[in-house]
Amino acid sequence: MKYEIQREIFSTPMKKKYTHIFFDLDNTLWDFEQNSQIAMQKTLSHFKLNEKGIGFESFYDSYSIHNKKLWCEYRDGKVVKKELKELRFEQTFKELGITGIDPLEMNLFYLTEMPFQKKLVEGAVELLDYLTSKGYQLFIITNGFREVQYKKLEASGLKPFFTKVFISEDVKAPKPSPEIFEYAIKSANARKKSSLMIGDDPDVDILGALNFGIDAVLVDSGKHHTGRFTAQMNFFKDKFYVVNSLLELVSLLTPG
Ligand SMILES: [Mg+2]
Repeated sequence: MKYEIQREIFSTPMKKKYTHIFFDLDNTLWDFEQNSQIAMQKTLSHFKLNEKGIGFESFYDSYSIHNKKLWCEYRDGKVVKKELKELRFEQTFKELGITGIDPLEMNLFYLTEMPFQKKLVEGAVELLDYLTSKGYQLFIITNGFREVQYKKLEASGLKPFFTKVFISEDVKAPKPSPEIFEYAIKSANARKKSSLMIGDDPDVDILGALNFGIDAVLVDSGKHHTGRFTAQMNFFKDKFYVVNSLLELVSLLTPG
């Protein structure tokens, strides 16, 4: 069902329409999945989890579930930053019966390692090089912690591509709330109709942008679709595009 609409969308010309392009960072350009796994492997060996009989996969599976749930609660304002950082490890320890490690200490080690990992989503540099050469103005809108997101951008070499970076912690409103899109559009001196949001998360990036009133492209990694999203796609069908890889955007964003 999710691709029926895609062919229709691609018949809509995008040429020359957009001047300001807003990218999500994690899993859209910076390969969060791979980078966080590498950082977690380093963290587990530092804290000698293997000596406690805990393997990487069982730890990471449990951590990912708790982390995701807590991020939803953080977005909804139910937990604050410090609680999120502590609870994602504390809940994992509890589930796996791990004792004797301070969850905040492990969180600190992990967060120190993670942003220095450099794996990018395939095609990221090629696309950004191309868009820069064509005169597009590029921006980041990301949910996350300021110090972490800036380190990722700098360590991975992405930062020079972007005119401005908008981080939810600074703006005090995370995607999908309209406030962060509004703030970004105004600061970028952009018009809604000339702006395009590109991201991997249907609910946060795509519906956030569409509900605010800017067009959006979902970079579909094939694992994030929700029923709620599919149901809303019809409503926005001429405002919304799906690609399977970043490089597909090169031909879609070719100025006429
Ligand atoms: Mg993302």
